[in-house]
Amino acid sequence: MTRTELALRTNSNQRKISVVLPAYNEADVLDELHERVDSALKQCGGRYEIVFVNDGSSDDSEQILDRLANQHGTVKGLHFSRNFGHQAAVEAGVAHASGDAVIVMDSDLQDDPAAIVDFVQKWESGYDVVYAIRHSRKENVVKRFLFTAFYRVLNTVSSTKMPMDAGNFGLLDRAVASEMTQLRDRDRYFPGLRSWVGFRQIGIPVERGRRHDDTPRVSMMGLFRLAKTAIFSFSSVPLSMFYVIATVSLMTCLGVTAFTLYHKLFTGLAIPGWASLTIVASLFGALNALGIGILGEYAIRIYDQVRARPPYIVGRRVNFDSSIVPNSR
Ligand code: UDP
Ligand code: MG
Repeated sequence: MTRTELALRTNSNQRKISVVLPAYNEADVLDELHERVDSALKQCGGRYEIVFVNDGSSDDSEQILDRLANQHGTVKGLHFSRNFGHQAAVEAGVAHASGDAVIVMDSDLQDDPAAIVDFVQKWESGYDVVYAIRHSRKENVVKRFLFTAFYRVLNTVSSTKMPMDAGNFGLLDRAVASEMTQLRDRDRYFPGLRSWVGFRQIGIPVERGRRHDDTPRVSMMGLFRLAKTAIFSFSSVPLSMFYVIATVSLMTCLGVTAFTLYHKLFTGLAIPGWASLTIVASLFGALNALGIGILGEYAIRIYDQVRARPPYIVGRRVNFDSSIVPNSR
């Protein structure tokens, strides 16, 4: 796969830009979102498409998107057969996008559509991946702390370098989008895979706005699961950590044995050891359980991968040319 030629990138008569918008129960904001994304794309010039992925919404999203697709040939819609989650929706959108550059953003107006223009400019200047770095967050203190901790831990354990504070919002060159679509990872952390594929990447600071309605569609539990996905799919450090733990416990065990033998043989001192024994036994019991739990995390992922169910099912496609549309893998 060759990168899109620079000459094509700047030739707005030929190139095409796609924007992918995963949406779950965002009916209230879809019209405004469309208007703002559309005007940013007009500012960039050239051909474009806006791919909405309706992730099994239970509100009026489906009707609104159908109406938008009816009014504008540039709007395309994928309606999932049920809710498959944010990451699956992003994956589907990127797989169905046909632009020379593919922009992924949230549908809740936290990602500012105006940044699209800056992304496209960086792409025209030769970068293959342009991602937003969130330099200000409008979330509460606890969430902010957890996010910072997450990015630190991920960067420490991951073998791929992960940019700090970068989410899904960003642009992929056609070459990058195609490579990412071909990855067979079942359990996905989009920003991690985007780093992993490489090419010329750059982060630019973008202010992260407030959600239009203050009710996150991804729950805390969902974020926690995504954090686990990121860590377990980009690192085997949690597993190898158990070699370190095993070494430390073996040393402790040998030390205690030597200590006990010394007193038994040379000082005749009886060691009253019930409490310490119990503590040590329960500590190592807990560490064993933790080890099994971590093994379980990898086993779940292997199982999911082997079972190879598709990550999403598209119930209906709107405004897509059916001959070129891929099926979910
Ligand atoms: N989303 C989705 N499927 C889901 C949950 C969320 O497509 O199951 C979409 C949602 O509509 C939004 C984006 O994913 O466009 C991010 O969701 P949210 O704002 O809840 O995440 P946060 O910004 O809190 O990380
Ligand atoms: Mg949001």
